[in-house]
Order: sequence, then C-alpha cells, then structure tokens
Amino acid sequence: MKYISEFRNEIYIRALAEQISKQVLPDRQYKFMEVCGTHTVSIARNGLRRLLPPQVKLVSGPGCPVCVTPVDYIDRAIELSKKPGVTIATFGDLVRVPGSSSSLEKARAEGADVRVVLSALDAVALAEAEPGRKVVFLGIGFETTVPTVAVALKKAKKEKINNFLVLSAHKTMPVPMRALASDPDVGVQGYICPGHVCTVAGVGPFKPLSEEFHIPAVVAGFEPTDILQAVLALVKQRNRGEAHLENLYTRSVREEGNPKALAIVEEVFRPCNSVWRGLGLLPGSGLALREEFAMHDAERVLPVDLPPPREVPGCLCGQILKGVAQPTDCPLFGKICTTENPVGACMVSSEGVCAAEYKWGLNLRKN
Ligand code: SF4
Repeated sequence: MKYISEFRNEIYIRALAEQISKQVLPDRQYKFMEVCGTHTVSIARNGLRRLLPPQVKLVSGPGCPVCVTPVDYIDRAIELSKKPGVTIATFGDLVRVPGSSSSLEKARAEGADVRVVLSALDAVALAEAEPGRKVVFLGIGFETTVPTVAVALKKAKKEKINNFLVLSAHKTMPVPMRALASDPDVGVQGYICPGHVCTVAGVGPFKPLSEEFHIPAVVAGFEPTDILQAVLALVKQRNRGEAHLENLYTRSVREEGNPKALAIVEEVFRPCNSVWRGLGLLPGSGLALREEFAMHDAERVLPVDLPPPREVPGCLCGQILKGVAQPTDCPLFGKICTTENPVGACMVSSEGVCAAEYKWGLNLRKN
C-alpha cells in the first residue's frame, strides 16, 4: 500500500526496537502511557510490547471514549429510552456497555427504540424524518468527534429540527493526563499523546503538561514505526533528564490544530465538569451545550432522576483506565469476560484495552 507500507516495514520496526534496546539503561524503568484507543489497538495488534526490552512498560490510559463514559451516563440513556416517543440514536459500541442494572441492548430487546447511527448527522436526518419523536443522540468522544456533533447541532438549529437532542458526555483530553501525571500511584514517566486529538486541538494544550510535571511527551501517529519512534524519543528524553513535548506526527498535526473545527466547537459547546470512569469528576474536562442550543440539550429537555450508579462487580476497568492494572489482572478476563460476552466497557469497545488484549494479546501468546 503506497504511503502506508513504509510505516509498517518490518525491517524498520526491528531496527527501531533495536535502537530502543541500546538506549535503555539497565537500572532504569520506563513507564509510558498512551491515551488514545487507536494507539492501544496498534500496540496490541502489532505485538510492539514483545519487541521492547523489559525495562520499558507501555500502559494504556483513558483514551477509549466508550470506556471512559461513566455508568451513570449509560443509566441516563437507558432511562431516556423508556420514555414514550423517545428514540435513542447511538454509535454501535455504546449499546452493549453495561449500566447499573441493564444496557441499551437489553432495553431495546424490551421494546425501547434504540438505533445505531454512523454519525450525528444521521441522527439529525432521523429526527427530520420522524418529527413526532424526540431523537436523542448519545454524544460521547473527545476533541476528534465533537466537531461533527457541533455541525449536526448547528444544522438542527438552523433548520428548526427541534426534536433532535444531544445527551453530551463529550470530554477533552489534557485534563485527565494532568490528573494522572500528579498521581504517584500511577507513576507515568512519559506520554504518547493522542494523535487524532492533537490533529484537532493542536499541540498547545499539551505543552504545559511536560513543563509542569516534568514528564516527556511525544505526539505520535498510529503505525508501528510511529509508535516505536515515540518510545525511542521518550527513552532519550528520560535518559537526558529532559521533559518537553515533541511532535513526531507532523504529517497530520499542526501546531495550531484545526482552527475551523475548534471554532465550531467553541460556538456550540462550553467547558464543564465531567465524570470519567476510573478517574471520577474532573473539573473542566467536559463539554456541555451552550445556552443558545438549550432546546437541543437532552439533559434540559428530558430530565430524569436516577439512583446512584453501581459499577459492575469484579470489573477492573476503572483501574485499567488509570494504568494501575492490566486486563490480565482481572480474574474475569478471558474467562467470564470476552469480546463475545463482555462484562465491562473496556471489553465492549473495539478500542478498549481489554478487547485489544483479548483479541491480539492472547493470539500473540499462543504463537
Ligand atoms: Fe472489566 Fe472485563 Fe476488563 Fe475485567 S476483563 S476489567 S471485567 S472489561
């Protein structure tokens, strides 16, 4: 495949792994965290951990949007789905995520109108086609997906499609990375910054992280050579006692990000506090609809009262999303919890840490 094949070239991959091994100091540990589900999948699928020396540990952080969406959001969506005249429109993965006592998949089996859409604009089209129903789009995801939801909201407002609503649990990335950087239990020594998010947000929001917490950070692409180059750069920084942000994904990420996407998000959303699975309430880490879009805000138009949420017993997703536990630490992993019968969110999402480990890690261990 032209343009991509060189990033997947086995000779380059092995050469980079060798360079990393030469740089690693025998008496030092290197714990690096990726905070993007696409990185998580690429690391697992390409068996990159097996190529690295034992001192280098790659752990996954809160980078999978489905996984970080908390239980009470799922409970709210389920409760809304039970209201007469309400249609839930959502991306497919979310349907299977367990809430406190049910899931959207179960609610649909019991008669709720839950439909899978590929985009927020599809949900707008659904609302336009069925004006007698309130179509609630489940808005989750980071800086990468928010602009598309902002476009949908603007379209709905302009065309007076007032039965299109958004239940926003959108989140922004640098805040949880700061929270984890200041947590001694996590002990992150370097960040592989999320390439997709940086394509929209730019590198600016990530720079203070390195400076303030003295943690090296590298913006990386998603091919195996991209990730190994990032690891090599982090190892070198750590050896030199440096901590700054390097952008190695210049083929996609510009310093200023995508100004058009940022402007439309700014127009439609405002920062708010947000709850993350595993990390709890993080001030300023979420996005809520601005007052001008209140008529499309599901929380305001369709309020629901909920009992306190309950996590799935035995599931370690919260600890895994903080990088303090691995899927194989969970007694349910691969036995009761599989991609066919997921127990927790990290096994449901195709970008989840547990799903990646189950799909690729187990296969690699068998070889
Ligand atoms: Fe949760 Fe399943 Fe992962 Fe265990 S293996 S942490 S139950 S998602």
